[in-house]
Amino acid sequence: MAAEIRTFTCLNDNFGYLIHDPATRATASIDAPEAGPILKALEREGWQLTDILITHHHGDHVGGVAELKQKYNCRVVAPHDKTTRIANVDLRVANADVVKVGSLLARVLETPGHTLDHVSYVFDTEKTLFAADTLFSIGCGRVFEGDYPMMWDSLLKLRALPDDFKLYCGHEYTASNVKFALTVDPDNAALQARAAEVTRLRAENKPTIPSLLGDEKRANVFLRADEPSVAARLHMKGADAAAVFGELRERKNKS
Ligand code: ZN
Ligand code: FE
Repeated sequence: MAAEIRTFTCLNDNFGYLIHDPATRATASIDAPEAGPILKALEREGWQLTDILITHHHGDHVGGVAELKQKYNCRVVAPHDKTTRIANVDLRVANADVVKVGSLLARVLETPGHTLDHVSYVFDTEKTLFAADTLFSIGCGRVFEGDYPMMWDSLLKLRALPDDFKLYCGHEYTASNVKFALTVDPDNAALQARAAEVTRLRAENKPTIPSLLGDEKRANVFLRADEPSVAARLHMKGADAAAVFGELRERKNKS
C-alpha cells in the first residue's frame, strides 16, 4: 500500500506535512512548525502521530514539538549536532542513517548551509524528498550558519536524486522565487513554464508543492549555478560554481 502524504499550511508560510503508512498506521510529521494545524490534520484523517522528523533547529520548524509529544508520546527524531538547541529528542540522526516510520524508510541526508544541523529526509520507495529550508521550489534557503560552498554542496546532494522524485519543501516561497529567478535566468523555457503554473496555482489558492525534482533541475536557477549560461548572465564566466551560487544567493537576499 502506498504511503499517503498530507500538505497544509502552518504559521504564515510554512508547510506542514504528514506521511502515513497504511500498512502499520504509523504517521510522521515532517517538522512541527506549530501544533494546531498538525493536530487538526491528524484528527481529520483519524491518524495517531508516531514520529516527528525534524530537519533543523529553527523555531518555525520545532515550535509544535513539545505539545505534540505530550499528546501522542511520539518519537522525536532530530539531527545529530553537539550544539543543537532542539529539545525533547529521542533519536539523533546523521548522514545515511535510515529512520523507520512504520514500514516506511526515511534516509537521512545531511544538507548543511541554512543551518549547520540541517538534514533532509528521503523516502526512496515513495520517491519523496523533504528538503525543508535547503531546497525550495525555484529557490533555496538563506545561508545563515554555513557558507556558500557548503550550501552549494548540499544542493548538489539533492540534485543527485532522480528526476521523478517529488520535492516537499519548508515554505511557500515559490512565487517570490520565480520573480527573482526570472531576473537572472529570463530565457529559461522551463522556468517560464513553471512561472505560468505557479501563477495559476496561487490564483486558485493552491500550494505550489510538490514539484518534480527533474523540473527543479531545469527551472531552479540555484541548482544551475554550474551552467555556463547562468555564470555569463552574472558576468562571472569561468568562475567557480560555488561562487556563482553565492552571487545568486546575495542577489536574492537583496531582491
Ligand atoms: Zn529555517
Ligand atoms: Fe523555515
